[in-house]
Amino acid sequence: MPSEFDFIKQIQQKAAAQSAADLVLGIGDDAAAWREQTGRESLITVDLLVEDVDFKLEYAPPRWLGHKALAVSLSDIAAMGGTPKFSLLTLSIPRNLKSETFWEEFFAGYFELAAKHGVALIGGDISSSPDRLAIDSVVIGHCQAGKAVRRDGAKVGDAVYVTGSIGASAVGLKLLLGGEQENQEIVSTEELRQSAIRDHLKPEPRVEFGQRLGELGFANSMIDVSDGLAQDLGHICDASGVGAVIDFDAVPVAEEVSLILSNADEAFEFAVSGGEDFELLFAADQSRETELMALADECRLRLTRIGQIVSVSQNSLLPVAVLTLIGEVKPLSVRGYDHFGV
Ligand code: ADP
Ligand code: MG
Repeated sequence: MPSEFDFIKQIQQKAAAQSAADLVLGIGDDAAAWREQTGRESLITVDLLVEDVDFKLEYAPPRWLGHKALAVSLSDIAAMGGTPKFSLLTLSIPRNLKSETFWEEFFAGYFELAAKHGVALIGGDISSSPDRLAIDSVVIGHCQAGKAVRRDGAKVGDAVYVTGSIGASAVGLKLLLGGEQENQEIVSTEELRQSAIRDHLKPEPRVEFGQRLGELGFANSMIDVSDGLAQDLGHICDASGVGAVIDFDAVPVAEEVSLILSNADEAFEFAVSGGEDFELLFAADQSRETELMALADECRLRLTRIGQIVSVSQNSLLPVAVLTLIGEVKPLSVRGYDHFGV
């Protein structure tokens, strides 16, 4: 492992390959600087990934870890309907993690995703840590003034949509942790196992879709699915003072869930309470559906209408309830991920 300053120089060289409009000063000074533009608002988000809490080095290939460190924060900017621009990366490195190939791979994954979305790394910090790696990932972006898509904008009558499918990442985590018996009744293909693991370790944030949806202004409220669909829809409901009823039959449960569960009710509950799907979940006027589907098509994403926003008084089972196959509305009490485990 090189010295701290040589290590920073190496990062700086990799970052220099990126060019960014509006950047005045990137890595190498006491602070970075960029030009502000009128008519825009800045967005900033940060995510902390801690070894053995948020990931394990035994199973996370360093290239995918670098990718994920950036992906989780890009997903937050996408969920605001914004365009990501700059990033900062703070590393707290344990003394035993000195392998140069580890960091080569980590930054290959990080910069590959950054290049894909036109994001420039403009700074960060490095410290050592007694024994665990911690990664703090900041992304800065922008949106047109007043057009950030917030959690508190959902309106009664809005349709609820989700991109992609949900549950695969949670399946991948269970497979990695080895705590779950695979479902023997279902013929499990190696391909499905691998895609579940990949969805967990190398999630693809819906950057283009979120950005373009934000520009169009069709979403009244949006969030990325990081703590589980049920819990994240609950966040929209709490912030907006509304409720939601989702349709059991409509929720796009990932095919990978069949690797561990064959019962449809259990698969549904698992998928909506899983986490780290990094899909976009939003409320929009259903009159926009044709345009929304066309946008999803252009971004090569699946988009599914999964339910409706209702008034709190209309549904006392809230915040989020499910419309079952037999037309009953039942409360959805499943919980998503909680770092404090309460
Ligand atoms: P300071 O002592 O002012 O914190 P540093 O020596 O830590 O300065 O950092 C020097 C430059 O390198 C700064 O521009 C900083 O943003 C950048 N830098 C430090 N660590 C990282 C990192 N992990 N990733 C990207 N840039 C970094
Ligand atoms: Mg520093």
